[in-house]
Amino acid sequence: MWTNWSGCQTSEAAVVAASSIRQLQDQISSATGPLRPVGAGHSFTPLVTGGGQILRLDHFEKPTVLSSSEGTARVNANARLHELSAALGDKGQAFRNLGDINVQSLAGAMSTATHGTGQTLPCIAAEMSGAQLLTGTGDLVEIASEDLPGVQVSLGLLGILLEIELNTVPAFNLRRRVGVRPLEDLLAHMHDNWAAHRCYEFFLLPHSGKGVQISHDVTPDAPSKPPVDLDALGLQVMKAASALRHVHPSLQRAVLGLMLKLQSDEDYIGESWRVLSSTRAMRFNEMEYHLPPAEAEAVLREITRVIETRHRDVWFPIEVRQTAGDSAWLSPFQHGARVSVAVHMHSSQDYAGFFRDCEAIFRAAGGRPHWGKMHSLKRRDLEELYPDLGKFDALRARLDPKGRFLSPPLAEMFLP
Ligand SMILES: Cc1cc2nc3c(=O)[nH]c(=O)nc-3n(C[C@H](O)[C@H](O)[C@H](O)COP(=O)(O)OP(=O)(O)OC[C@H]3O[C@@H](n4cnc5c(N)ncnc54)[C@H](O)[C@@H]3O)c2cc1C
Repeated sequence: MWTNWSGCQTSEAAVVAASSIRQLQDQISSATGPLRPVGAGHSFTPLVTGGGQILRLDHFEKPTVLSSSEGTARVNANARLHELSAALGDKGQAFRNLGDINVQSLAGAMSTATHGTGQTLPCIAAEMSGAQLLTGTGDLVEIASEDLPGVQVSLGLLGILLEIELNTVPAFNLRRRVGVRPLEDLLAHMHDNWAAHRCYEFFLLPHSGKGVQISHDVTPDAPSKPPVDLDALGLQVMKAASALRHVHPSLQRAVLGLMLKLQSDEDYIGESWRVLSSTRAMRFNEMEYHLPPAEAEAVLREITRVIETRHRDVWFPIEVRQTAGDSAWLSPFQHGARVSVAVHMHSSQDYAGFFRDCEAIFRAAGGRPHWGKMHSLKRRDLEELYPDLGKFDALRARLDPKGRFLSPPLAEMFLP
């Protein structure tokens, strides 16, 4: 049985792998039900499940970087972000920005508009300047510039991405600074901090009245020794503190207070891709909505209130980031910067009630969901949120006229 990273999506469908274009063409033409390409399986939504077959592309034979020149590289679409980062680094190049982890495939990350944080930094998909796609008709095509905004964020609905041309920047080092701050300071200064730092984000720690802020800024200085990564230990303490709440409610706050007192500030320098992404050892489920920036503070206050009043079992940190706007038809960041608020629950917990309450708050604030993270939106909702959905429909009808990639869960969103 196939499962995604968190275990919330499972499928009994056959998992097939392809290593050549001919094999892929055969698989497309002989598939008895919808064929769903998979990257690293790190999405929480039914993007890979629900079809007749799951198609792995990690055995597809292609060099990681096919060619590169200043500011651009043509790469294997199915290579992982960390492999690409290392290979680009060897050529003195780098991704402009990355998210919290780097184990996703580039195609998988772009297909759902995966993002990092930075007021002037767009999501990874916005860096796609060209692509080679094997369509639902089995044709190998080079994407024309007028179709590119449709392909940049396309959920594996148009075909199989094999090569991607992307904008790169010269390799650079980042100085990472991490510190604990009171919740009120974080809310009051978030917009100033986004303006002041290349990359800025914070995590609110439920029931503590505090949060942790992280900034990354470009530096000409050489890498220094990274501190020991205590994130996983911190999460274990938060989990244990939540269990103590049942003994006495004040115990949770006391343990969290002690943990945050013991947390020392971090300050170190490393290659951009090494410091931006970390390892996520503890499994969780996640919902993330991208909001108009002016709505962020009110939404965060409301979610904090909902946790304190109705969902006291939520202990996982709430992550807050900002991403610059772009022009992809299905990008949640289309036509302007958005502040992203992500809520999580441990993979062993029932997330339904909390996520439902959060989603109501996000939607009332005009939010658009992360395509790879939990949401309940259907066709009518998407029509309201995405003015270019019709253009995407037309492109899908042209590139995959028989719906070879359209599984039932995706049909609920993409069949007009
Ligand atoms: C621990 C964790 C941390 C995360 N951190 C972040 C973060 O910081 N920022 C953020 O924005 N998101 C984050 N995510 C979400 C994640 O980046 C997205 O869900 C991403 O799409 C996962 O990439 P993947 O390679 O696992 O793709 P999958 O989940 O396997 O697939 C995603 C989509 O891409 C399609 N696809 C895959 N390969 C191809 C191909 N070759 N051609 C066409 N379509 C293809 C699939 O069909 C599917 O629709 C995180 C997820 C986890 C579990």
